[in-house]
Amino acid sequence: MTTLSCMPVKDALSAAVKQGMLTLGQYRRTLARTTLPGVAVLGYHGLRADDLPADSMAFENLHVRASTFDAHCRVVRECCDPITLDDWRLAAAGRRPLPPRPVLITFDDGYRSVARIGAPILAAHQLPAVVFVCSDPILRRRLLWFDAVAARDGEAAVERWKACDYDSWSAACADAAAVDDDDPRASMTVDEVIALSRSGHIEIGGHTSRHPILARASREQQREEIAGNCEAIQSWTGRTVRAFAYPNGRPGVDYDDTTIGLLAELGIDAAFTMRPSFALPGERALERSRFLMVDAVSGAELAHRLAHTWPR
Ligand SMILES: [Zn+2]
Repeated sequence: MTTLSCMPVKDALSAAVKQGMLTLGQYRRTLARTTLPGVAVLGYHGLRADDLPADSMAFENLHVRASTFDAHCRVVRECCDPITLDDWRLAAAGRRPLPPRPVLITFDDGYRSVARIGAPILAAHQLPAVVFVCSDPILRRRLLWFDAVAARDGEAAVERWKACDYDSWSAACADAAAVDDDDPRASMTVDEVIALSRSGHIEIGGHTSRHPILARASREQQREEIAGNCEAIQSWTGRTVRAFAYPNGRPGVDYDDTTIGLLAELGIDAAFTMRPSFALPGERALERSRFLMVDAVSGAELAHRLAHTWPR
């Protein structure tokens, strides 16, 4: 993703120097004088135990180590102003302004590691989050299709399937292999979705039933994937789904105007892309920007990006 490039200051500072600056409180002092241009929405996927051996799973960098995530949470808590989506809704309605350094933590896909590893870390730092889940793997105890394809044919094969039309993809990939609940790639259980929703700090959002590339699907297929997902989540949590994250999330590539229209019809009031930017005040509420978060970003690196290098 492009967030990992174009960082002129980054090259001038070693990771050790950044860690020293974090330890000495330099980023905290800099950010205390800073007003961010919009909300820094952090887009996570899975998490993993620190002692999970390297190369245990595909797309490993998207599964952030527990200690890395804890370091991120410390930066968000100590240097920024964590917000909920409801805080953002109130601000958008003109009822209460956002704080100067708003950060929103999000997770895509519905990995069980978010409930098992992430929720306790979030709670320890008193941080809210939004978790966007795919309902089919949760209900049927299946791998997400891209994890199944990557395990079988390699990560490059996943990119090839993303370019295929919905019918071909559905026939070949959508019915993924069963997965053990203890597998680090497992989706959370229905009970875990319910527990997160009832925790008071976590909003559950939609991410489609099966994680297709929506732009490759017909309107009716898109509607089935989105509405079916929202209905499943609502039946579990008893709460209306109001937030959504586009699978793969590239504006103009992975979803289209049909998708946005369907979300509006279904009552979604906040939808998130993977456009790497602060979510600026003038942005459409159904196409919010996010920064992709990966394990290679240390706590100090996150602080450095917030304070200096994310474009503003
Ligand atoms: Zn996803």
